[in-house]
Amino acid sequence: MKRICLLLAILTVTLSAHAQHKPRPDAFPPLPEAVETKAVTMATSVEEMLSWDRYPTYSVYLQMMEKWATDFPQLCHIDTIGTSVKGRLILSLFIETPSTNNLYRPEFFYSSTIHGDEVTGFVMLLRLIDTLLNGYGNNPQYTNLLNRTRISINPLANPDGTYYLGDNTVQGSVRYNAHHVDLNRNYPNPFVSSKATIEPENEAMINYFDHHLFRLSANLHGGSEVMNYPWDSFTSLQNPHPCADWWIDVCKRFVDTCRTYNNSHFRDVTSSGYIAGGDWYVIHGGRQDYFNYHNNCLELTMEVSTTKTLSSNRLPEYWNFLQHSLVNYIEEIHSLPENNGIANSKVIFYPNPTVGFIHLTHPVFSPIELFGVDGHPLMQFPSGIVTLDLNNLPAGIYLLRYDGNTTKILKQ
Ligand SMILES: [Zn+2]
Repeated sequence: MKRICLLLAILTVTLSAHAQHKPRPDAFPPLPEAVETKAVTMATSVEEMLSWDRYPTYSVYLQMMEKWATDFPQLCHIDTIGTSVKGRLILSLFIETPSTNNLYRPEFFYSSTIHGDEVTGFVMLLRLIDTLLNGYGNNPQYTNLLNRTRISINPLANPDGTYYLGDNTVQGSVRYNAHHVDLNRNYPNPFVSSKATIEPENEAMINYFDHHLFRLSANLHGGSEVMNYPWDSFTSLQNPHPCADWWIDVCKRFVDTCRTYNNSHFRDVTSSGYIAGGDWYVIHGGRQDYFNYHNNCLELTMEVSTTKTLSSNRLPEYWNFLQHSLVNYIEEIHSLPENNGIANSKVIFYPNPTVGFIHLTHPVFSPIELFGVDGHPLMQFPSGIVTLDLNNLPAGIYLLRYDGNTTKILKQ
């Protein structure tokens, strides 16, 4: 989850006027970390996972991935995204059915458990793989979806955090990787420069994305139940995502379907079950914003269980209300907004002419330089900024340059 403590929740409620991240009017104060007594049962064989009420040992996890690749060689293969600090494998099962035509099939990506102790999504994605592969040819919805979509599923993005105490248990799992780094604060921030070293798990994931053309993805977390759509780096008032309306529709469909099966879920952060990330609280270095901005891939953060390490006997209950939404979310890739407004769209500077401030329709991934009409450099603004202060400039014509683009500005 995006880290929350009870104290912060209380402060947010009592001192909302001064709180950095004031909840929306429809937001409930976050619940304290769930106090459920965790009963974690481990599966020590692939057969023991068949009831889906256990967590796999690391070895069983690898065996499951290999078994699917062996049992369904026409439908899937394993991608090794990379290795963790301790040398554990970061894997994805890539599902691609035989093509009967040469039509373009967009690429979708699911990933879970970048926070090693948020393990509900780990089992949900394993079960999703099993369901899709076994449903192909039997279930018309899955068959149709797989024939039109290339789907990569990475159930475990931070194996060292999940198997912190050893390969045989997820009990004692931790949020961080083996360098004690929060991987969901370690991505290069498109909007704020940082000299942080990119951890091997993230380096591998970035490389994997750069070799694919994922158009829609989700990163599953636990600790809350809410659909957290971009941006995480800004509040929606500061800088709404260009596709915010589309995201809201997608989130509504996801939550509504979940509630059809169990009406009590997705209620601990907002009554709607979704929120713009920065309106919950702002973070920097998250994966979601990086892939939205840098790879032009629409990714959101799915917080799927209020308890991070759910008691294993409750995993089937979570699957029951999540499974249809998880499948339907993949379907959304076939109705993406025509232009997601980020990497491929030109920034508009407004108002122009201006008497002082210039705003950007969305941030850019490079510094912005301001020149006089004679080409003399006058000012430089950092990447990610969405408002330029030109109040101190005399009236006249200026040029703004960023990333090879030039815009003429009139200061009155
Ligand atoms: Zn998390």
